[in-house]
Amino acid sequence: MTRGERPVLRRAVAALICGLGLTHAAQAQETRLIEDALAAAAQTFGQVSGALGDTSMGVPTSEYRNALTRLRFASSVWGETLAVQISVAENGRGLCAGFAAYVTPAITQGAVVLTICPQFFSAGADALRETTILHEMVHVVAGTDECRAMAYTAQVQSLASGSYVPVRDYWAKNGCEGSRYKLPH
Ligand SMILES: [Zn+2]
Repeated sequence: MTRGERPVLRRAVAALICGLGLTHAAQAQETRLIEDALAAAAQTFGQVSGALGDTSMGVPTSEYRNALTRLRFASSVWGETLAVQISVAENGRGLCAGFAAYVTPAITQGAVVLTICPQFFSAGADALRETTILHEMVHVVAGTDECRAMAYTAQVQSLASGSYVPVRDYWAKNGCEGSRYKLPH
């Protein structure tokens, strides 16, 4: 993420957090945590994107990069340019009961919505936040396959640092041993 892109992101994120009944200080804190996670994820991805080729695990590298760093990408799945619209959930109900974030297409509005759940803002969850962003951007670009999202994220983290945030339980729960995807060794 370049310096020039940060203010745009800041406005986009701040605008979406407004109006949720939070105090200004709480909104600013949530905005900062989202921006930091986006920046950390972009930094990690930037270290390894050259090793991924044009496409890795069915995820086009340039689409993923643009979704992550510009919150806007030319979607080969949907055949149009889409925005990544970040929305903060007001409470931990619904899909937020089980996830730190989730993605829903809103193609008629020219967007894919990335909803951030309360769990995302937990204290000490920096690694979770970056991992969540890397994972959800796979869904943004390439769709719902959990095995692909986990394997791609683990690959990016492993290439960048030699290790990845463990996902064994979720991997097993989703039956990914039998999938076409593999976690790094
Ligand atoms: Zn997922």
